[in-house]
Amino acid sequence: SSIITPSLISKTDLTLKDVIGRGHYGVVLKSTWKHRDGIEIECAVKVLTQSPEKLVQEIVHMQKLSHENIVQLYGVCLEEPVLMVLELCDGGSLAARLKDHSKPTPLVTTLLKYAIQIAEGMRYLETQGYVHRDLAARNVLLTKDEQTAKIADFGLTRHLEPDQSLYEMSQNAQLPFSWCPPESLRYKKFSSQSDVWAFGVTIWEMFQYEKEDPWMNLSSRMVLEKIEAGERLSKPLYCPQEIYKIMLECWDFVPQARPNFTILTNKLKGFEFDVFDLDKK
Ligand code: ATP
Repeated sequence: SSIITPSLISKTDLTLKDVIGRGHYGVVLKSTWKHRDGIEIECAVKVLTQSPEKLVQEIVHMQKLSHENIVQLYGVCLEEPVLMVLELCDGGSLAARLKDHSKPTPLVTTLLKYAIQIAEGMRYLETQGYVHRDLAARNVLLTKDEQTAKIADFGLTRHLEPDQSLYEMSQNAQLPFSWCPPESLRYKKFSSQSDVWAFGVTIWEMFQYEKEDPWMNLSSRMVLEKIEAGERLSKPLYCPQEIYKIMLECWDFVPQARPNFTILTNKLKGFEFDVFDLDKK
């Protein structure tokens, strides 16, 4: 797929339509963007009502990213209020899809396909030196045909300098603590290895079909205590043993002992056939 360079978009080229989502900091509207030569492109427009700092962070990082499994930033509109024009992912969030009982339950093969796609997007981020810090099923969006999963929400993302492998959080911001490894909870240290831990929790959410939140009803302190005592989230009922084994590798106490996203992608791809057999039974 081609690399897209985000552009400066004029508000007059945008037609905002229905609200398709709400976040903590603003709303997302289904829209059309009148592109060059009068071509109309369907898109999602994010309007930020609060916390401009988070939006700026998100724009700064997203404008440099272009990958099949990352929600593409088409451009920004810098007149107030600032708008982000994004690739439309009409299938909604993966978390919402797993909870939606009006549609058929995704097969194990479909979940594996999404897991591979998320790992590919994360591998791209890892090789580009980005730490996402908020990977979770709620931040993975699906295309309308539900064939492709794309990583979204880069509001907490940080870029690491070439000689840097860790980001240390300074302010006391809110953490998605049930997705965080011990070094993030205890020392506020984030790295690609902490994203790997969150990836393990994300695939746990998927195979759990969002029936339960990870570490439900526990405080961040209680989660840390359990993890430090060696406890881990238990195997979801319909999760193949091989995939649970990968989750446990992602949840190694020692960050350097966890597989990176290249290893994870390759391991998951190796399962494709075995798990397909499992669905047929
Ligand atoms: P936060 O509140 O931390 O910013 P969030 O993901 O809830 O996180 P938004 O990124 O503003 O907030 O998105 C809100 C909702 O809008 C999402 O849950 C999703 O349903 C929808 N949404 C966001 N981006 C897109 C997109 N590109 N295409 C389709 N729907 C989207």
